[in-house]
Amino acid sequence: MIPTPPKAEVRLQGIGVSPGIGIGPAERVGKALEEPEHLTIERGEVESERERLNEAIVATRDQILQLQEEISAEEGENHSAIFDAHLLILEDSSILNEVLRIVETQRKSIDWAYYSVSKRYIDSLRKIADPYLRERAVDIEDVAKRLLRNLRRGAGEEIDDGVRPSQPGTSILLAHDLTPSDTVGLDRTRIRGFATELGSSTSHTAIMARSLNIPAVVALHDMPEDFPAGDTVLVDGYHGLVILNPSPATLAEYDAVIERERTVLTDLEPLRHEDTRTADGRKITLSANIEFIEELDGIISLGAEGVGLYRTEFFYLSRPELRDEENQMANYRKVAEATHPHGVIVRTLDIGGDKLLPELFEDPEPNPFLGWRGIRLSLDQPAEFRVQLRAILRASAFAKIRLMFPFISTLGELRGAKACLESAKDELRSAGIAFDEKIEIGAMIEIPSAVLIADHLAKEVDFFSIGSNDLIQYTTAVDRVNDRVAHLYQPAHPAVIAMIRETVEAAHRNGIWCGICGEVASDLSLAPVWVGLGVDELSVGAAQLLRMRRALSRLDSATCRTLAEGLRACGTSDEVKEASLAIARAAYPELLL
Ligand code: PEP
Ligand code: MG
Repeated sequence: MIPTPPKAEVRLQGIGVSPGIGIGPAERVGKALEEPEHLTIERGEVESERERLNEAIVATRDQILQLQEEISAEEGENHSAIFDAHLLILEDSSILNEVLRIVETQRKSIDWAYYSVSKRYIDSLRKIADPYLRERAVDIEDVAKRLLRNLRRGAGEEIDDGVRPSQPGTSILLAHDLTPSDTVGLDRTRIRGFATELGSSTSHTAIMARSLNIPAVVALHDMPEDFPAGDTVLVDGYHGLVILNPSPATLAEYDAVIERERTVLTDLEPLRHEDTRTADGRKITLSANIEFIEELDGIISLGAEGVGLYRTEFFYLSRPELRDEENQMANYRKVAEATHPHGVIVRTLDIGGDKLLPELFEDPEPNPFLGWRGIRLSLDQPAEFRVQLRAILRASAFAKIRLMFPFISTLGELRGAKACLESAKDELRSAGIAFDEKIEIGAMIEIPSAVLIADHLAKEVDFFSIGSNDLIQYTTAVDRVNDRVAHLYQPAHPAVIAMIRETVEAAHRNGIWCGICGEVASDLSLAPVWVGLGVDELSVGAAQLLRMRRALSRLDSATCRTLAEGLRACGTSDEVKEASLAIARAAYPELLL
């Protein structure tokens, strides 16, 4: 018999949204929204179609509530909050009225009417530039699939929910996209990795994968439709790589990586509750960035010293119904109380750039990253700004909150924002409403003009936090979301290092502290540079918390200061990286996967 030749290895590059390595047999899940038959009904059937819809809504609501209860019991309330959004979509009167109008006026079956309205919403949301809003298409699709299945069940069809894997053993899930119920409806103890064609780092799949600690890669545009179930898949969440049918050589290479990872993770476990200090005892605060309160449990259990950046715009964009002062206040209070005693740095809204609020951006801007964004937008929308400032202040009465303004480019903006804050404080005082009178105020330093006037800015605030994601893009004129110029987006560019150096020095000259909350704060290979430059706080992604704590504990401040001085002579990013890596490799080789 002729042996079957081994299947060729295929490598797909996507975005790594949850670190780690997973290997296992492929399993396809999450069927696309299926178009029902295009049926026309008789006039006399309109009422019975309406009845069918009502019954399907009841059945769908029951299923969502049941799922919510199960998930809440298994994973805690934060995970189940996603289903509140589903209940709102299910009962959304604009969707339901439109569906009924189609049934009445065009005499289409309720199945087809519901499908066509949902499909239109899904398609238009998918076209929106903002990744978070684009992801909301997944929620509508999830509810639509569930309701359409219930309509068919109501008509006597026997159908399976189609998303729970039926195979025994572990697996890697491959999907076009995974809706939240696809994800939470799975037996998560069996899953070794997620790989999806759609999705972004703010998708529910990404958030869940991160908090469940399952490696995940999204945005794999070339995933073959017909990849056979059971064939081996490797998900490398560190590098955003998915390897179909990995060769024996690749598997051997990754076996070594997995073994190293396992040893490192076991070894890091005891660091969860330790203080963060360099080898010579210098304190560096190690906090975490969050976008959603769902991430809190994860970062707290990993020993984050508070939240160094709470990006409030995600909550704001995703839950328009919760934008009022009471709900914002409750949200900030929850984060502050959960992170006690360290507390949270709440950043005021940073809308604009790629985070667009559709009602404010009907006419697209020619250069959104240079346009109406962050503090500029807040100052131009004083009523909304006031609501957010009051909510943050009120929450500060319950637990430690620091407040931070994003996208400061002039002293005038900072003073304008502080004036709004003072007037919000005055209002609360006159109304006898409590807040922390000593609340600390910070400025994000993420624009070169802010770096160059940092001495002036420092005199007006209690701390700086460097937004390196933007500082890199504005210093080097490289759009942070443009793939074509991604090779020029260089965190270790000597000009970026000079900007960070100047910011930290200006902060210290003026007696305030300075942190970094952009992605470079999580970069283990550059940690010696941050220590050498005298950075006081690093706010990192949850997955890097323990690794960074260990890395810092192995670094010596004096050695790092010498490194930082030496970097003045570097002309290229490679030279900076090499110099830093030499120290990192000597101090914590096992962490540099
Ligand atoms: C940054 O710019 O580095 C930052 C932390 O803010 P964002 O990524 O939200 O712009
Ligand atoms: Mg920024």
